[in-house]
Amino acid sequence: MIERGANIKKLPLLVRHTDLERFSTESAYRSRCPECNTGILLVNRDQVTFSLINVDRCTYCGQLVVYTDKFIAGEPVLDIHSTKSASK
Ligand SMILES: [Zn+2]
Repeated sequence: MIERGANIKKLPLLVRHTDLERFSTESAYRSRCPECNTGILLVNRDQVTFSLINVDRCTYCGQLVVYTDKFIAGEPVLDIHSTKSASK
């Protein structure tokens, strides 16, 4: 298993939320991190508007992910990190 925080400085990973494995059946948002397979990607909300945002970070390895989906679980996703500048 990789170390906690091992991917904190890695380039953002472009992913489709819909393609990720859900962490449990209890949440339509939480996914298993595709980098470490240990941590959780929770899906974040803007602190003012509570809109879903397209930037997320793994709770274990620290990998930054950028969702390319327009919607997650039926909710529109705010594009705060341009998916064009993120490298795969
Ligand atoms: Zn991870």
